[in-house]
Amino acid sequence: MQGLMQRTPLLLSSLITHAARNHAGREIVGRSVEGPVVRTNWGEVEGRAKRLANALARLGVREGERVATLAWNTQRHLELYFGAIGSGVVLHTINPRLFQAQIEYMLEHAEDQYIFFDLSFAALVSALAPRIKGVRGYIALTDRAHMPAIDLPNLLCYEELLAAESAQFSWPDLDENAASILCYTSGTTGNPKGVLYSHRALLLHSFCAAAADGLGLSCMDSVLTVVPLFHANAWGLPFAAAMCGAKLVFPGAELDGGSLFALTRDEACNVVAGVPTVWFGFFDYIDRNRDKLDLGVFHLDRALVGGSAAPRSLIARFDRDFGAFLLHAWGMTETSPIATIGRLLPKHAGLDREARYDIQAKQGRPVYGVEVRIVDDAGQELPRDGVAVGHLVVRGPWVTAGYFRGEGGVVVDAENWFDTGDVATIDSDGYVTLTDRAKDIIKSGGEWISSIALENAAIGHADVLEAAVIGIPHPKWVERPLLLIRCKEGKVVTRQDMRDFLADKVARWWLPDDVIIVEDLPHTATGKLSKATLRKLYANHQIAPESAPAAAP
Ligand code: ADP
Repeated sequence: MQGLMQRTPLLLSSLITHAARNHAGREIVGRSVEGPVVRTNWGEVEGRAKRLANALARLGVREGERVATLAWNTQRHLELYFGAIGSGVVLHTINPRLFQAQIEYMLEHAEDQYIFFDLSFAALVSALAPRIKGVRGYIALTDRAHMPAIDLPNLLCYEELLAAESAQFSWPDLDENAASILCYTSGTTGNPKGVLYSHRALLLHSFCAAAADGLGLSCMDSVLTVVPLFHANAWGLPFAAAMCGAKLVFPGAELDGGSLFALTRDEACNVVAGVPTVWFGFFDYIDRNRDKLDLGVFHLDRALVGGSAAPRSLIARFDRDFGAFLLHAWGMTETSPIATIGRLLPKHAGLDREARYDIQAKQGRPVYGVEVRIVDDAGQELPRDGVAVGHLVVRGPWVTAGYFRGEGGVVVDAENWFDTGDVATIDSDGYVTLTDRAKDIIKSGGEWISSIALENAAIGHADVLEAAVIGIPHPKWVERPLLLIRCKEGKVVTRQDMRDFLADKVARWWLPDDVIIVEDLPHTATGKLSKATLRKLYANHQIAPESAPAAAP
């Protein structure tokens, strides 16, 4: 027997309709690429998104065709989210930090019809244009006065395009399984692969992201969205915020600690979201200007942090400086991205700070909708005892079923489990603790050493800004850990200091055989430590003779 309820399709356009009708005046604030902070609201975003939908139709972009963005987090990029997607056009958000060759590959592979770009990327677009055949035009995300002086065929001005159109548009009744956003994974091995989100997947994901045990969003919140709109849909924040009528605050191209500090303060942001590196810069700015800054005027309550492991020291900093709770989340482009989130359980009430930080340092528990488990090499499920370490596999309505155009072949097993490429433990409460990317694991004397756990321990040192651990070949133990650290400005940490510091924090046989102080550490286009680069750089590194030999596990 069928139920008798309405079969309203789960479309992302319903979010902007809701936000504009019920939270029209709630602000969207962003630093523009031209410089000034620009203020708009959900009502205006809807009007401009509809103008954009009309413009896309006039340009001849049809349902299901792709348009690309090379853009920062700004209100215009948000308009593209709703205007393109709402009208059935697929928005291909490109990470501009990728290599030019990868961007070229993605533009060709996606068959993008138009490229919308911020002024910061004018030179990049000029370099790409002669090499990309299928693109019909380029749209600079600016007004006439700021148009870049570049010579491109079919170069259009975004503000002129919108001004010429009506703000009346009826969002089409699409199939809820129709594609909405195309986002390529960064492709550290081989070509980037496209994850093609459906309306349904992202709408369901918004419910879970906004829910009380997710980000706990409401119209009272002001959300600093540092995580880029080109990185896994900014963790779904634009959609979840529209669902609740929350205020969105965008940093544009200014991602340094000082700019983020000012924006968080000035826009009374109580929720902030970004990868750990962003917050290292934020707190470094606070440390360097402590006597000039007043932290008492902040409203910060929650920091959503993921993308790489949030170290315990960062959790403590948010708590100590702002009384804010770091919500540690794990996910990937392939999971839309939120899969687990680090909320506490009733039994944790009354825990002292240190014990609470230990729980927050885990990657969290699965949100409703995503199932997770760990398996051994043969695919057998391993116990949820917090000890067994295995391959983390996931499934659910916002987990990918396969990559765009079938790249990578079949990526789920017969029961839809998707292998994340991560290695983890799951404890009896369901908290997932990531120990490594499978390819970054350090295999030493037949046992595994977690590079993430070692990095987290190292970064707990007051003078360390960032730490990376890689495995280097060893004649006896197969591999041994090498620790690279970047010290805070004006601070010096020696190898011996570091080994002494770590001695009571990790097992003796985990102690890095060598510690190297570096000026800078390489990062990937999504802000993660680039272990592949480090492995290449230190492939022939000789362990210093005075370093203690590793004890057998
Ligand atoms: P990329 O394109 O850089 O791979 P993703 O966001 O898809 O971008 O990367 C997903 C990966 O990031 C995960 O598989 C995991 O290895 C890592 N990751 C994400 N969140 C966390 C976290 N909270 N702790 C540790 N690693 C994380």
